[in-house]
Amino acid sequence: MIPRLQSPEHKPAWQQQLSEAVRSRSELLRLLDINPGLSGQLPVDQGFPLRVPHAFVARMQRGNIDDPLLRQVLPVSAEADLVDGFGRDPLGEQEAMPVPGLLHKYPGRALLTVTGACAVHCRYCFRRHFPYDEANPAGTHWPAAISYLQAHREIGELILSGGDPLSLSNRRLQDLTERLRVAGHLHTLRIHTRLPVVLPARIDQGLLDWLARLPLRTVVVVHCNHPNEIDPAVCSALGELAETGTTLLNQSVLLRGVNDDVAILEALSRKLFAAGVLPYYLHQLDRVQGAAHFALPDRQAMQLAEQLRSRLPGYLLPRLVRECPGSDSKIPLAE
Ligand SMILES: *Cc1c(COP(=O)(O)O)cnc(C)c1O
Ligand code: SF4
Repeated sequence: MIPRLQSPEHKPAWQQQLSEAVRSRSELLRLLDINPGLSGQLPVDQGFPLRVPHAFVARMQRGNIDDPLLRQVLPVSAEADLVDGFGRDPLGEQEAMPVPGLLHKYPGRALLTVTGACAVHCRYCFRRHFPYDEANPAGTHWPAAISYLQAHREIGELILSGGDPLSLSNRRLQDLTERLRVAGHLHTLRIHTRLPVVLPARIDQGLLDWLARLPLRTVVVVHCNHPNEIDPAVCSALGELAETGTTLLNQSVLLRGVNDDVAILEALSRKLFAAGVLPYYLHQLDRVQGAAHFALPDRQAMQLAEQLRSRLPGYLLPRLVRECPGSDSKIPLAE
């Protein structure tokens, strides 16, 4: 018999928390003391089930159906609306993959989706219809992605994305970076992750050791949309990440009913900075089917960005951008 590397009872704490994530609407509403009748018509399952760790639920306000964190994770019936211009692959990603799971759209950097798994299911997620099973290089496709990186010396930065790359175990991450050694021209590893925010226990010693020892510059781009997402546990996880020499940035998505307010965006930038994180991007929502109710008109988005400029120092201003299929960078929104 092959010995198991990790018996279930020795699961790391974060994996235990992940497996205990809330997966039902009724449980979530009960934890928040919200009468299920208040939450409107029952949504139909869009093939993207509810999922949220308790650590994130703990930051939601009890009894408040409009809580900005709850809104990001609670399925609503509006997700079933078919709205013009909101499609299933809004970024044309399936065309930009030279090998499955590897996106090479922008010069100098490539993005590898290393897993389809996420700790939380954000209702506005632009990858909610992504065919992870076909595009996930964690299994059979990994060697092809690594050969591509090895052959393309102009790619200096590899971005790990997903799903959430930090939902892989430390051992898998280590395995990946060991295999990447054949692409010796890589100088930077960037990780786009929501885990330090939604499940700060993920930032464990093994992860910190892995980051600290990597022979690459490391950047972690967290994904935080509202100041209430940052609590003391998140701050201390971010502080530990920073101590490994990792640069910490944040990207947010502009979301109706969540952060479409200048005071909230200002508070978010200030709170991130206090936690050692600089704002990077503020994304205009990707036009994915099922998320139209979160969208803000460009004019309003630009107004918010302008108001923000009069309140914050330049280094705390995120760049307001959108992603356009076929373009070789994110596009700033401009009047
Ligand atoms: C967003 C994105 C990147 C990274 O863009 P930056 O402007 O460097 O943050 C790279 N590749 C793809 C496919 C992307 O969507
Ligand atoms: S964590 Fe990111 S990839 Fe995962 S559901 Fe949320 S937005 Fe989508």
